[in-house]
Amino acid sequence: MKDLIKDMERYAEVNNVPIIERDSIEFIRKYIELNNVKKILELGTAIGYSAILMATVSDDVEVTTIERDDKKYREAVKNVNACGLDKRIEIVFNDALDVNLAGHKYDLIFIDAAKGQYIKFFEKFENYLNPGGVIITDNIKFHGLVENKDKIESKNVLGLVTKIEKYIEFLKENDEYTTKFYDIGDGLSVSFRKNDEKIKNID
Ligand code: SAH
Ligand code: MG
Repeated sequence: MKDLIKDMERYAEVNNVPIIERDSIEFIRKYIELNNVKKILELGTAIGYSAILMATVSDDVEVTTIERDDKKYREAVKNVNACGLDKRIEIVFNDALDVNLAGHKYDLIFIDAAKGQYIKFFEKFENYLNPGGVIITDNIKFHGLVENKDKIESKNVLGLVTKIEKYIEFLKENDEYTTKFYDIGDGLSVSFRKNDEKIKNID
């Protein structure tokens, strides 16, 4: 298992796949453990790295993860099978915005797909959150660029950073949710419904 994780890290580096940073996935794993999270929805599987690390916190964790890129999807299927986790990790090959999850609820929704669509993802998938559940979003700093906007030369990158800023504003102004921002890895946000506040285990 450890070797498979190392192999995935190497594959991600060689192939430029933006997998989650170590500190961030450790934070999420701790959250899963402390809050007794059982059902997880992930947007953006890539090669299955974060899904596998979330599923292995405990034997009763189940992950549904969505990926729209064919090559990454196939790589994720391969990795999940190699880890013997195909019973507990379901990989959906589709655009997250086209997936219908009616009838399902999750304790943790991890948003890590297209950075320009974060608000859309939040608004769609908050409907699938269990009471007491949280929405965690990765790359809230976007490689540190959100804090260094003046250094950005590419128009595309500037557009994405502006969208992440809008997402941060959206979270801060959202009356239904309290969001905490963490300076961990590439920046994480943790959002929970206001009336769930008292039952959460986060510092
Ligand atoms: N969670 C992974 C990394 C995901 S990288 C990890 O930490 O290991 C982001 C992934 O989201 C990419 O593979 C990209 O193809 C996928 N993606 C982007 N927009 C998407 C969408 N709308 N629906 C499904 N997948 C999407
Ligand atoms: Mg990420």
